Formats: sequence, C-alpha cells, structure tokens
Amino acid sequence: MDPLYSDVEHQLKQSRESLDFALKSGRMGTWDINLETRTIQCSKEMLEIWGVSAEEFNGQRSVLQSKVHPDDLQRMNDAINAAIHSDHVYELEYRILPSPGIQKWVMSRGRCTFAPHSPIAIRFAGVVFDITDKKAKEEALDAAIKSRDQFYMIAGHELKTPLTCLQLQMQVIEFELKQKFPGAYASEKIGSGLKKQQEHLLRISRIIDNVLDESKISEGRLKIQTELFNLCEMASEVIDRFKVIAESSGVEVQFHCTQKVLGTWDSFRIEQVLLNLLINAIRYGKNKPIYVEVTKDEENAMLIVRDQGIGISSEDQPRVFERFERVISENKISGIGLGLFISHNIVQAHRGKILLKSKIDEGSEFTVILPLK
Ligand code: ADP
Repeated sequence: MDPLYSDVEHQLKQSRESLDFALKSGRMGTWDINLETRTIQCSKEMLEIWGVSAEEFNGQRSVLQSKVHPDDLQRMNDAINAAIHSDHVYELEYRILPSPGIQKWVMSRGRCTFAPHSPIAIRFAGVVFDITDKKAKEEALDAAIKSRDQFYMIAGHELKTPLTCLQLQMQVIEFELKQKFPGAYASEKIGSGLKKQQEHLLRISRIIDNVLDESKISEGRLKIQTELFNLCEMASEVIDRFKVIAESSGVEVQFHCTQKVLGTWDSFRIEQVLLNLLINAIRYGKNKPIYVEVTKDEENAMLIVRDQGIGISSEDQPRVFERFERVISENKISGIGLGLFISHNIVQAHRGKILLKSKIDEGSEFTVILPLK
C-alpha cells in the first residue's frame, strides 16, 4: 500500500477515534438530514441515546420520531420546520422514550446549509445531547424552591396573625394610657418604650411581608390590581404617616408636588415602593433631611426620593436591586436585602423602571418611573 495513503488513513482513523471519544464522553450524538433526498444519517451515539439499533433505524426518520414523547412531538416538528425555512440555529429540549418506562431529556441543536446563491436549504445537521441528569437536577431544584416558598408562606401567615393582634393590643394600650394616665404615658420609660416596641413590631411585620412577597415573585404570583389615582395625593398621605417615624429619628422629610399626577397603577404596591425607599433613606441617610418629589412629563410619572446619606458606589449600584443583596453587611443598619428587589419587581410589573444616582458620602437619589398609560 502507498505509505502516504496509509498515513492519511491512520490519521483519519485517529481523528474518528477522538471524535467517538468526545461524542461518548459528552453524551452527545450527531444527525444529518439531506433535505433533497429526505434521507437521514445518525451517529451510533445518537442511536444509543434513542435506544435504537442500526438495523431497527435503517435510515428511517419515523423510527426516531416514534420514540419522541407524544406531548413534545408537535413542538419538535414545528421547531424543525421553522429552522428549515430560516437560517436560524435550531435548538430544542424535548423528551424521548427509548424503552418502556424509561424517559430521557435531550437537547438538539442544528442549522441548515443552503444551496449556493439559493434560499433553499439542502442539508440540516446538528448534534444532540443527553441532558437527563441536568434536567433531573433542575427539577429537584425547582421542587426544593417550591417547598421552601411554601414553607415561607405558611410560616409567614402563621406569624402574621399573632403579630397583627399584638400590634393592635399595643395601640389600644397606648391609647388607654394616653387618655387615662397621661402622667405615666409622658414618662420616658413608658411612653417612648411603647413607641420603640411598636417600631420593633412594625419592623418584624415588614420583614415577614417582604419574605412573603419574595416567594410570590419567585413563583410569579405577584398580582397587580390597578385603579385610577393621584400619585401626588397618595405620596402626600404616605409621607404624613411616615413623618411620625422620621421625626422620632430626628429626620426631616420635605415633599414637593405641584400638580395632579393621575395614572392607573396598583396603589397598595406603589405605596409599598415609596415606603421601602423612605425607610432606606432613613436607614442610610445619616439623619439628614430627605427630599421627596412627584412630577410628570408627557409619558411618565416620576417619584423621586433623595437622601444625603452614605451613598452607594457605582460598582455596587447594579446589585442593590438583586435578591438578598446588601452593600454593607452591618446588621445594625441593613435589613435583609429584599426591599429594593421587591420594589424593582413591582415597578417592572407596571412596565416602569427605577433609576439610581448615587455618590459615596453624598447621598442617593432613586427615581421611580411609571408610565402614565
Ligand atoms: P435592606 O433591607 O438591606 O435595606 P434593600 O433591598 O432595601 O435591603 O437595599 C439593599 C441594599 O442597598 C441595602 O442593604 C444597602 O446596602 C443599599 N441601599 C439601599 N438604599 C440605600 C440608600 N438610600 N443609601 C445607601 N445604601 C442604600
């Protein structure tokens, strides 16, 4: 035999072996459809994944299709047809049933080749991966997240009921004391002690609400119930209530709104966003005055909350809207890092956005933008 020919043959054999090894270890097969002759070729690895012998297969696409899960077959055919009529990459995850009682997940990825200077596809080829293990892990993770969320929900509701009773009782005690024993109420220990206890209860109650909302968001259950209202009026009411808390921390809140800002939003949820921003402005605002403004342009309403506190560095700014992210981890000031995550999700559900401008040691300005329509 010609030594050159034998050398080429040896190299070909070696690369086929390397390819076989790569396909096997990557749990991957290859497929190649000739669209002119309608014939299909598959690697032996793909047939192994499908649980089909070379004899059974015998170049028939129907043999492979017969193993596709009936609920995924239409989806698969639609995706293939769409790919054949475009030059997009075809990528699809679907289930196959290689033998009775066995189900596998596969991910197929491929692309068409076109005749020169023609829009007609002549070949459609690609690879298929066995992703059963990955899917099993994903499903186990999903189930774990679901049961965690259910636990949060049940524990949250169980905690909320006695907490609400406790809050009401405290309010009654405070009222009675104020009316009947004003002298006792005025004493530092009793009056301000009661106020402190109510603040702590409010804080616990907000943490529970935030955890419940977080699980609603991760399950896609956060519902928005819209109604027409004046954002300016709502903000003014929230700030009046909030001033009591702010003043007890010695913080002045300035509010500016000169016009009606009417829109169809979820008032309960927008109030929650404003409260989250105000609480942060107190927490991180170094006790300096907080400025709130409601305004609008032709398309959007704007709710601005500005403080003159510790600020957030430009590197940290993108992550403060993520779940459980806190820039400073001192538990003394930070919460559990859910307020901005929830606010961001609420605003997104209104097709709006929150912008953040901030400089370390100079303060932060959050602008909530809500479409008027
Ligand atoms: P938290 O409950 O920890 O305050 P948030 O989601 O409301 O959670 O905020 C996330 C983090 O962003 C905070 O822990 C804090 O580090 C930072 N942050 C939020 N608001 C401000 C602000 N006004 N000034 C400085 N840092 C802030």
